[in-house]
Amino acid sequence: TDTDTADEAVRATCDDATTCKRFATSKGYWKDPYIQYFVRSVGDRKAPEINRGYYARVQGVNHLLDAFLRKTQCDCQVINLGAGLDTTFWRLKDENLMPRKFFEVDFPTVVARKIHNIKTKPPLSKPIIETHSTDSLLLDAHSLESDRYCIIGADLRDISSLDEKLKKFQLNPELPTLLLSECVLVYMTPSHSSNLVHWAAETFHTAMFINYEQVNMSDRFGQVMIENLQRRQCTLAGVEACQTLDSQKDRFLKTGWEHVDALDMMTVYSMLPQDDVARIERLEFLDEKELLQQLLQHYNICWATKDKLNLGNAHFNV
Ligand code: SAM
Repeated sequence: TDTDTADEAVRATCDDATTCKRFATSKGYWKDPYIQYFVRSVGDRKAPEINRGYYARVQGVNHLLDAFLRKTQCDCQVINLGAGLDTTFWRLKDENLMPRKFFEVDFPTVVARKIHNIKTKPPLSKPIIETHSTDSLLLDAHSLESDRYCIIGADLRDISSLDEKLKKFQLNPELPTLLLSECVLVYMTPSHSSNLVHWAAETFHTAMFINYEQVNMSDRFGQVMIENLQRRQCTLAGVEACQTLDSQKDRFLKTGWEHVDALDMMTVYSMLPQDDVARIERLEFLDEKELLQQLLQHYNICWATKDKLNLGNAHFNV
């Protein structure tokens, strides 16, 4: 059916993210020793502005995530929604920043691929076994449950089943919770993403939601981005919520979140530690500075908080 084709195109986007991250790390933009186990070859060259864009995305998201983990002293849980083949669990383990439990959710077929890689690659499975206390680690084709890491196959548009599965895997609504969605909500209709964001606000009293995705999509450059995806049968069903930074914030403000901020990635890029930015800018020559600026202006990080436990809100310049 059309829905199956559309969902399949959305599932395939996790390979884009992983191959781009794999390429950028092979050039030295940032370190990720685990991504090679999810995509074997470095693949075709990516343009320097794409690599810089991924650099800004990874540094920006990690900055907020790590700030939350430090503020809660890791006495918290993380839920990565639409995690794809993301390697954050292993980074946090290596950096001694592991939350009490790290959850990931994606479509069952994507989860099955991820679990297959974990099962067959000791550098991926070892840290999971090391952080598990008993012999019985639940690992089947569509889910993984260990003490600290849990991967769940579910459709994020089906809230009641999502809620049920997370609870079955020991989600604790009382614990400070960081929810993360990176290029995920944009593939869902505005009503589906609002329902998801609303569910999160209702479920947790102390939480932060970090969303990274497209913004400012109504201009010519945005139209071209949409057309490029459509050529691959991929529809940005949620593009309505990506018109402006305000429309990004509204999704959270209308669903029970207390405090919301959003920055376009050009602004984030200018706020990142400038010595490291200078280092990565020397990695590859970039002829067209304007192209990078345009690209960065069409993505944003939006973060929302609910803060019953008074942790204080995360800012970029802390
Ligand atoms: N967040 C990862 C990253 O940044 O590397 C992957 C990003 S990829 C562009 C989008 C991911 O969202 C895909 O893995 C896709 O399968 C997942 N996704 C999109 N819609 C979903 C839904 N309704 N239910 C579960 N997963 C979904």
